[in-house]
Amino acid sequence: MNLADRWHSLILGNAVDMMRYDAGLRDEINAMIKALGKDLVREIISADLDTPRTDWQRARLRTLLKEAQTRIQEAYTEVANVHSSGLAAAVDANTTGLVLAMNEAAGVQLLDAVKWSPNLLKALVDGTLINGAPSADWWARQSVDLQNAFNDQMRQGIMRGEGVAPLVARVKPLLETSTRNAEALVRTSAMAVNNAAQLATYKENADVLQSLQWCATLDPRTCLSCGAQDGEQWAPSETEHITPPLHWNCRCVVVPISRLWEELGIDPPPGTRASWEGPVDKNTTWESWLKGLPAADQKEILGPARQKLWDAGKLSITDLVDQRGNALTLEQLVGK
Ligand SMILES: [Zn+2]
Repeated sequence: MNLADRWHSLILGNAVDMMRYDAGLRDEINAMIKALGKDLVREIISADLDTPRTDWQRARLRTLLKEAQTRIQEAYTEVANVHSSGLAAAVDANTTGLVLAMNEAAGVQLLDAVKWSPNLLKALVDGTLINGAPSADWWARQSVDLQNAFNDQMRQGIMRGEGVAPLVARVKPLLETSTRNAEALVRTSAMAVNNAAQLATYKENADVLQSLQWCATLDPRTCLSCGAQDGEQWAPSETEHITPPLHWNCRCVVVPISRLWEELGIDPPPGTRASWEGPVDKNTTWESWLKGLPAADQKEILGPARQKLWDAGKLSITDLVDQRGNALTLEQLVGK
C-alpha cells in the first residue's frame, strides 16, 4: 500500500465519521420539522374555520396563512442556524483529526492543519456551494416551498368545503416532503463542507503535494458524471477545478498525492521505500477499504446484523442502500 492509498483509506474513514455525525444532526433537524408540523396543525385547529359565513371564513383563512408563514419562516431560520453551527463544529474536529492521522501514516509531520477560527469556519460553511447554492439559500428555498404548499393545500381544502380533520390531514404529506428535502441537504452539505475543509488544508500544504486526485466510489450506483471524474488529477493550487459533491448524495472524495521524499528533501521514514508515492490504486473502493478493517470496526459501521450478512456474501454494499442512497432498515434488507 503506498502513501496515497493509505491516505485514501483515511479519507474514506473520515467521510464515514462525518456521516455518523450528520446522522445526529439530521435527527435534530427532523425533530424541529416535526415540531413545526405540530404547530401548523394546532394553528389549523384554532383557526376556527368551521363557519358558514364565507366572508368570515375567508378572513380567518387569511389569518391562518399569515401565521403559518411566520411560523415556517421562524422554524427554518432556526434550522439553518442549528445546521451551520453544528456543521462548523463537526468539520473543525473531523478535519483536524484527519490531518493528524495522515501525518501519522506518512511517518513525518508532512501536512500542517489549518487553524480554524470561528470566523474561518463560518466562511467555509456559508461559502460552500451545494449544487450551485450555499446551504442558507437551500433552507430559504425549502421554507418558501413549504409555505406555498401549505397555502395551496389550505385554499384547496376550504374551496372543497373540508372541515378541520381533512384540512389537518393535508399537512402530513407536506411535512414528509420537507423532511426528505432537509435530510438530503444535511447529508450532502456535510460531505461538501468536509471536502471543502480538506481542500483548504491541501491548498495550505500545496508545497508538499504533487497533485489532487478525484476518487469516486466504484460501484454500480456511481453516476456517469462522477465515474468520468474518477482518477482525474489537478494541481493543489488550481482552486477553480470542480470538486465533489457533484450531486445530491454524491460519495466522491479527493485524495492528495504527496511529492516524492527526494523532492521534499527529507529522509524517508524508516521502514519505507524512497519512492512509494504514486496515484491511488484504482481498485481501492469503499467496499474494499471496509474489507480491510477489523471485524469490530465493520460491525460499528454497518451494524452487527448487516455486517454478518455482508461478511457471509449474502449482500453487497450496494444492497445496503436504496436508490436515493439512503441506508435501508434491516427489515428492508432481509426482504432483498
Ligand atoms: Zn460523486
